Amino acid sequence: MTDISEYVHDLIEKGIQAGASDIHIDPISDGVLVRFRMDGFLKEIEWKEEMWGPPVVSRIKLMSGMDIGDRRMPQDGGFSFELQRDGEKETIDIRVATLPTIYGEKIVLRLLPHNTCYHSLSSLGMKPEHVQAVREMLVQSQGMILIAGPTGSGKTTTMYAMLHELQREGRNVVSLEQPVEYRIAGVNQVQIHPRSGLSFHEGLRAVLRQDPDVILVGEIRDKQTAEVAIRAALTGHLIITTVHTFDSVSTIIRLLDMGIEPYLVSSAITGIIAQRLIRKVCIHCFGKDASCSRCKGAGFFGRTGIYEVLAVDESLHPYILNCSSAEVMRKYMVSNGFVTLSSILEEKVAQGVAEPTECQRYMTYGHKSTVV
Ligand SMILES: [Zn+2]
Repeated sequence: MTDISEYVHDLIEKGIQAGASDIHIDPISDGVLVRFRMDGFLKEIEWKEEMWGPPVVSRIKLMSGMDIGDRRMPQDGGFSFELQRDGEKETIDIRVATLPTIYGEKIVLRLLPHNTCYHSLSSLGMKPEHVQAVREMLVQSQGMILIAGPTGSGKTTTMYAMLHELQREGRNVVSLEQPVEYRIAGVNQVQIHPRSGLSFHEGLRAVLRQDPDVILVGEIRDKQTAEVAIRAALTGHLIITTVHTFDSVSTIIRLLDMGIEPYLVSSAITGIIAQRLIRKVCIHCFGKDASCSRCKGAGFFGRTGIYEVLAVDESLHPYILNCSSAEVMRKYMVSNGFVTLSSILEEKVAQGVAEPTECQRYMTYGHKSTVV
């Protein structure tokens, strides 16, 4: 047992030292595969014999407060991990999820270092005029700010940066999250548990009875939640939320497609931030040295966010009220000086920060009709 505990401890420490965001332990047909997600990509770390898997998974489940006897249902949990780094004690929160597969239980550990939650709005990689625009949205006493992008595009980081920026003094700030990733002083954070009956929709209704000023809704996935959130945004609350959409315009279209009345959409939304996390070309070898010590020959090192920021003003209202197509809306916005996500990506390519071959991947996410 000691060996297993030690192994798990060392594996997590190795993942943290390597800068991994997740550790995957996958049972496969002929053994167990251990992978780290680094800069958004899964990297194979080691392969182990089949018999090695179950005790390791049980050990991690035990640490995460899960039921180790139940191997048939997906479970989630977590724990805090402490390590010494550069002579200082560091705490990492680890969120764990299991999934029963045909070869056994797969387990994923998400590593959440405490310091990454302190990204300020200006350190995200946003253009200064965009930071300014977002700040102007945050001082409003009502309205809805949406953060759009696919999974893994850094929406949560932006949401937390906005929470830090928010003037919390004198305001009742409540967040509904699934799960709560970081604790923030001065914010009433509520963990959403759909399986126990606390959905975003239910949570939001309960929060509205608590005299809130600012409500952060982790994600809007359905019409019910969207409707309650929009009504709250029109009745003296500032709502900050995320949606799984391609860009700013498709976020408006999504809300209309959900069946939300156009006049509610146009009057509630103050702004939309759409984003991607892109891999940065390694500045030591520019992807030209397979033996580069910095990027280990990958050609990329680190990531940066790219953002488009749409401040929704009255000039856009007629387009929303008429349910104009994405193309028409975007054309108007661009003629009005709006900078699209794809043009920001092109700028990054021109600067040598992003690789042109990567653009396709970032800019073709669902909703192909809305791609510029
Ligand atoms: Zn390199």
